[in-house]
Amino acid sequence: MGEVALALIPAPARANPLESGGDSYMGSQTDPKPCDRVMTPNAPITQDVLTIPRKLTQGKPNIVGLTREGLRAALIAHGTPDRQAKMRAGQIWQWIYQWGVRDFQAMTNLAKAYRAELAENFVVEIPELVSKQVSLDGTRKYLVRIAGGHEVEVVYIPETDRGTLCISSQVGCTLTCSFCHTGTQKLVRNLTPAEIVGQILVCRDDLGEWPVAGVRPPERRLLSNVVLMGMGEPLYNFEGVRDAMLVAMDGDGLSLSRRRITLSTSGVAPLIPRAGAEIGTLLAISLHATTDDVRDQLVPINRKWNIAALLDACRAYPGLGNANRITFEYVMLKGVNDSDADARRLVKLIAGIPAKINLIPFNTWPGTVYERSSWERIEAFAEIVNRAGYASPVRTPRGQDILAACGQLKSATERGRRSAAQVAAQVAAEIGGA
Ligand code: SAH
Ligand code: SF4
Repeated sequence: MGEVALALIPAPARANPLESGGDSYMGSQTDPKPCDRVMTPNAPITQDVLTIPRKLTQGKPNIVGLTREGLRAALIAHGTPDRQAKMRAGQIWQWIYQWGVRDFQAMTNLAKAYRAELAENFVVEIPELVSKQVSLDGTRKYLVRIAGGHEVEVVYIPETDRGTLCISSQVGCTLTCSFCHTGTQKLVRNLTPAEIVGQILVCRDDLGEWPVAGVRPPERRLLSNVVLMGMGEPLYNFEGVRDAMLVAMDGDGLSLSRRRITLSTSGVAPLIPRAGAEIGTLLAISLHATTDDVRDQLVPINRKWNIAALLDACRAYPGLGNANRITFEYVMLKGVNDSDADARRLVKLIAGIPAKINLIPFNTWPGTVYERSSWERIEAFAEIVNRAGYASPVRTPRGQDILAACGQLKSATERGRRSAAQVAAQVAAEIGGA
């Protein structure tokens, strides 16, 4: 499956990112070797990682996350006649993704003997739900455990006209955006397609959103949209994310329209055209700054692919138009990127790209050097962007009482092990100070 684990060379604690040194080494999953330099106080802002091939597990293959073609080939390899394999793959997919069935015995349109063969040769496995928290505003945060004992957070956000699931693509992140708590997490590995698509299945289980035979399903789905905005950089787990999204978008799979799935990238410019061609979901770009100097500090991958390179890649994204706009995410950081001049530069930069701008009030975390911009500042910024003709919704922080907001997805796990009173005190302090 080409899966790799990343062993980390211990990275030093980060200094104030706005003052950090000019070392531009960028560690990433595509880097063939780790940085072998001695760590100094000016050590790279990006963690250095070494990729080590993971041993494949000896267990039975998991059907979840296999592409159509992958499943067809696996069925043939285990004795399904060639001419039947395509149809069987479609039937099995429908049971798993449309009916939520994980027990082969319940796949009643397959012959009994064939069901037994499947059970002998395959498993249907999704991540294990470890805990669930429900916010006062209805947001649900799940902690799920995946192979190796790693834990990943998944957030469901109900709104009046939709329900959005925010899923993760990696455990941790090799990038170190200086305002993001996930980027401080040391352990990193790519999630498998099963672990990615499995997050959607875990949420459907919890919402009880599987059809019941003979009962007409409701018009509106509870889980209607998916955003790849949890932990990790989706384009650094390209194949894993692609295969999972192909299952999510397929009519025999989860049957989510491509226009209801948004992939958010920090700016891996060279992979953006490939994402358009091979995945084809909507695209969100974590822009967050209007000059390279500031973006170098906030989103260090900018030192590899700067704003101009990133926006060129965006302009070439296939199918752009009014119904298919790029979302530019912009985290509002007090005194760093939130001036009127920034707002004016922003609209100039993206001129000609069908776009909307998503202003995200900074979500604070312990140890961060940043502060959230004031509401007056955010409104003034939004006003300039609006007047230039761009929709600029301010993303209301959701699930704050359970630390489910963007960029908080590391602190939550760590705090989950503390007492409820400690958590409440910390959250109150954070919300109060934001
Ligand atoms: N790695 C991808 C997707 C996950 S992050 C990316 O960077 O695009 C999802 C969004 O949350 C990104 O726009 C990210 O910049 C933003 N984010 C991260 N930390 C945040 C924080 N503390 N407050 C607000 N937004 C944050
Ligand atoms: Fe990784 Fe995205 Fe966080 Fe940057 S903002 S550290 S790319 S998860």
